[in-house]
Amino acid sequence: MVGSDSYYRDSVAPTPQPAAPTVKKQDISLYQFFGPGGVLSRTHPAYEFRRGQLQMAQAVEQALEEKRHLIVEAGTGTGKTLAYLVPVIRSGKRVIISTGTKNLQEQLFHKDIPFLEQALFPGGEGRLNVCYMKGRNNYLCRKKLYDLTGQPVLSGLEEIEHYRAIAAWEKTTQTGDRAELAELPEASALWHKIDARSDACLGQKCSSWDKCFITEMHRRAMESDIIIVNHHLFFADLSIKQQAEYAPDAGILPEVGAVIFDEAHELEDVAGSYFGVSVSNGRVEELCRDVEASLQRNHMLSASISGALKSLRERSMFFFALLPQGEGRFSFENRREFLEENGDEFTGLQQSFTRLGSELENLPSKPEEVFNFGRRTQELQVQFGFLMESEDRNTVFWIERRRGGRDKLNVYLQATPIDVAAILKTCLFDQLECAVLTSATLAVGGGFEYMRRRLGLEHTRESILPSHFDYENQALFYVPPDLPDPRTPQFAVKAADRIRRLLEITRGRAFVLFTSYAQMNDVYQRLLGELDFPMLLQGDAPKSVLLEEFRLTPNAVLFATSSFWQGVDVQGEQLSCVIIDRLPFAVPSDPVVAARVKSIDAEGGNAFFQYQVPAAVITLKQGFGRLIRSLHDRGLLVLLDNRILKKQYGRVFVESLPNYRKTTELAAVEEWFGAGQGKL
Ligand code: SF4
Repeated sequence: MVGSDSYYRDSVAPTPQPAAPTVKKQDISLYQFFGPGGVLSRTHPAYEFRRGQLQMAQAVEQALEEKRHLIVEAGTGTGKTLAYLVPVIRSGKRVIISTGTKNLQEQLFHKDIPFLEQALFPGGEGRLNVCYMKGRNNYLCRKKLYDLTGQPVLSGLEEIEHYRAIAAWEKTTQTGDRAELAELPEASALWHKIDARSDACLGQKCSSWDKCFITEMHRRAMESDIIIVNHHLFFADLSIKQQAEYAPDAGILPEVGAVIFDEAHELEDVAGSYFGVSVSNGRVEELCRDVEASLQRNHMLSASISGALKSLRERSMFFFALLPQGEGRFSFENRREFLEENGDEFTGLQQSFTRLGSELENLPSKPEEVFNFGRRTQELQVQFGFLMESEDRNTVFWIERRRGGRDKLNVYLQATPIDVAAILKTCLFDQLECAVLTSATLAVGGGFEYMRRRLGLEHTRESILPSHFDYENQALFYVPPDLPDPRTPQFAVKAADRIRRLLEITRGRAFVLFTSYAQMNDVYQRLLGELDFPMLLQGDAPKSVLLEEFRLTPNAVLFATSSFWQGVDVQGEQLSCVIIDRLPFAVPSDPVVAARVKSIDAEGGNAFFQYQVPAAVITLKQGFGRLIRSLHDRGLLVLLDNRILKKQYGRVFVESLPNYRKTTELAAVEEWFGAGQGKL
């Protein structure tokens, strides 16, 4: 268990709120902090002067002062977290820092900010109020847990055991964050029934409101100088505020003077998912289950309500079974034809919602949660209506089928904005005084036009910082000119053969990254038994377990797909080679990608050059970024897709990558390692 102060730190009583400690600009310049002989050099054990870090700090400070937006690409090794934290602390403003990964959130909260407090306030004259917030489903809902007590809805011994552990923990935890319960499995079905998701939350009318972990988190956020969140929480909150038309009590994040988006290359995808609409068979079932359990508990489950629930369950099952067949994600373009054929079934489903809604409405002296069920029923009905009948031209409608546990088939009906730029401009960038977007991978072909256009950013300051790494001497980039086009059937055989040869040269110690599961499995099977090195395969164990095994197993080779292209950090010789099978263009048949391509082309643009190539450039930069993680790392990067050499668009990729040493000769690769330049 982590300590009780794990998600909030301050050294003073929360009220009355003292002024936030600031380091005044006249006391010390940024150069005196980051420069040679400065504060950082005296306090950081691994200090090196990083020109890019100082430049970034100056740019962030200027953006905060001038109330301007800033977009800044800072490669690995720049030390960008300190470069934005120092100006943030000096500004005295309340700031949200939103990140893409949990690792970065934890690094900021547990390492970087405590380090800066020590460096800036060595006499302990003040500590920062810092709050670390996760998505609501990470926290326990006390009301749901109490409601479960004594109810026979636990299924199986495992759930009963988990229930006991959670009930005991609830009495002592200060945060309600499930991360404290290491023994609770990631996929615990019980947790899903008792987490604090907003769906079933009664808000101020809840009997546990005063001691609710979410209320407490909100209070802490209001008192904090720096609030650390992830992009999912940030955009979930923003979409709630937008739906509530910015009512003062909507959402959980307070008003701030600035937002720093780290790992900002992920913003378009995350924002798209929160400004869209999604319903599923599981969501309807969850509503029915919650209504049933609550009314049973309150001895209010009448025959007519049971009938309404039965009808809704049947109608929903029938409707989802009628939807066009297919696995994975696919477009639902022919909604009109579908409705022409199945209009009665859709109307039947809508009527079942209406019936349940009025049954709930007619209940005498209802407990508070029944009002909430009414709201959920109506919301689902409206969302189904939108998903089936809306003609909104900026929305793509699609279906996703995913297999769940115990042979469950989850079917999602989704609507996603095709272009989030206009939404982000109005809801986010026009509302904020200052937004700083940073990442190691934001620029394409030396500029930010792509990011600005996709995100709706106008009038921004921009900066691409010089790298702290000596890429030319740290990494060799090899493209085999003789392999067939990766779209041909011969590719897998030849690619497997070349990978085997390359791994012999590097003595394993490699990530082999693929753009599809099919290609990964194919090549893995071809090499199984052919390599003298331990082979690890994505899917054989959870990601964190595989990574740990990779770090600890000499000469290991990991075969993986997209989830290992970013947010993975293996420093040192253990990772000496990253091989990528092909240019990572997004799957053109993916419904959201296809809709974006169509929309850009329809407006007279060129989707391939304006969207598909730049998006693939960012992904490729992320993938190759796994190799060089420190000044001492050296190794080999391989792209088995020689379209980068042969096609006109290949130039954009080459110009966007760091200045790695380049070769098309296998002999040069052998020499690179043989000459002792590799991480041997
Ligand atoms: S306020 Fe909402 S999240 Fe908190 S205990 Fe009540 S229902 Fe659960």
